[in-house]
Amino acid sequence: MKKLVVMKFGGTSVEDAVAINRTASIVSTRRNQGVQPIVVVSAMAKVTDQLLAAANAASRGDRNGALAITARLRSRHKEVACRLTAQAAAKPGNDCADFTGPEYAETQTWIDAEFDALDEILRGLAAVNELTPRISDMIVSYGERLSSRMIAEAFAQRGLDGVHVDARHCIITDAQHGKAIPQDALIAERLKEYVLPHAYQGKTVVMGGFIGSTEKGVTTTLGRGGSDFTAALVGGGIHAEAIEIWTDVNGIMTADPRVCPDALRVKTISFEEAAELAYFGAKVLHPATILPAVQKNIPVLVLNSRNPENEGTRIISLAPSCRSPFKSIAVKKKLTIIDVVASRMLMTHGYLRAIFEVFDKHKTPVDMVSTSEVSVSLTVDTTEKIPEIAADLSKLADVKYEGRKALVCMVGENIRGQNGIAARVFGAIRHINIRMISQGASEINMSFMIEEEDADEAVRSLHAEFFEDPDPEVFDVEARKSAAAETTVR
Ligand code: ADP
Ligand code: ASP
Ligand code: MG
Repeated sequence: MKKLVVMKFGGTSVEDAVAINRTASIVSTRRNQGVQPIVVVSAMAKVTDQLLAAANAASRGDRNGALAITARLRSRHKEVACRLTAQAAAKPGNDCADFTGPEYAETQTWIDAEFDALDEILRGLAAVNELTPRISDMIVSYGERLSSRMIAEAFAQRGLDGVHVDARHCIITDAQHGKAIPQDALIAERLKEYVLPHAYQGKTVVMGGFIGSTEKGVTTTLGRGGSDFTAALVGGGIHAEAIEIWTDVNGIMTADPRVCPDALRVKTISFEEAAELAYFGAKVLHPATILPAVQKNIPVLVLNSRNPENEGTRIISLAPSCRSPFKSIAVKKKLTIIDVVASRMLMTHGYLRAIFEVFDKHKTPVDMVSTSEVSVSLTVDTTEKIPEIAADLSKLADVKYEGRKALVCMVGENIRGQNGIAARVFGAIRHINIRMISQGASEINMSFMIEEEDADEAVRSLHAEFFEDPDPEVFDVEARKSAAAETTVR
């Protein structure tokens, strides 16, 4: 049996026919290298957002608004699927003015049937005006259902033995719609039944990320960005030799390259560091991705589908030693800080428990906590539930809350036991007002809360302080040198 590798392609890697062709050639290269790929794909870029917008419009009774969104999505999908057909690929420049010819009939028919069913749901929703999490999952699931089927067909036509598997047959979850919890044992059984037989025959299975279903067959989703999680669940379930996350950047970088253009690729990072970064807002990986891989010790690679030659980032159990204290800086925005102030609190037995019970009741995770003699400050990343949480907390003490905060989190195993790091961190951002500070119990992160509007500037200042002369064993310093050389030549 060949080496089983899960290859996950994110939204930008499948955003149009050109991107899907690129994806096909990456998969083809892996097959020629003797790898048996299992492919997990996201919805095409922005599709999930638009499906959510359609669902919200319908739930407000704006039936026409919702149907206008799906009409645009319908033509986008039809166009991409038609462009991918052998007939269209053969036309000069892949330029097919309209995709209504008989040669496209089969492609058109199944896409129309899917959108007809989706429109039916939206019409019903516009009539009842109530968007339940269950209906929302049903609506957003169309993004991955469509992309995976289109891509499986494209792979079949390109000699890659593409076969579509509906992820909902394999990714069995509980019924917490919007952020369902996967049921590992059932998933492993289903993968054995639906995926492995194809792989043993050398076929390239393509399945949608993000979506799943309950044991009873009700569609669920794993939370935004959840296709990474699907890839890790599949990798864990079939004991893959590696999980590859193909995205639109060269790997995990020292900061979000959109915020910090100087960011460098991190060559290797530990599971623990990557998990911490993902949890604290580095969108390049979904926070739940790492666990299934850690449990089975499967290496995860983050790679660039626009630059497949690049080595990317390797996430492994033990990172090599590194002379730079930090590996990367993550930022989580849109946070709210809640101050709970009680005059008599001071270590009162059960007081903190009572506070946390409120967050538990509202199923709201707390990102950061700090306590003083009379107050407890907590941060959360929800805005909708704040009024209810505040109402419950005000039964215990005085409550104040303030939104638009950002949590900056610096991650690196090498901060353990190093002196003077905090002074350097706070020296680099002395021009920025800090609201809360925490050094994580894991001892591999240092995080602090600031105003959202200061976040980008803080990241750039910290990056300049800590990544001016990084360890070439761990960071892709060569890329910076060649970029600098190119600028000088120009
Ligand atoms: P995909 O659609 O492939 O899942 P995402 O948009 O979810 O891609 O994640 C990739 C994006 O994550 C990058 O374009 C980048 O802007 C952002 N990002 C944030 N932090 C980092 C980081 N530390 N390293 C790399 N990318 C990051
Ligand atoms: N399509 C889903 C989203 O946009 C899942 C993913 O892309 O990972 O959140
Ligand atoms: Mg993502």
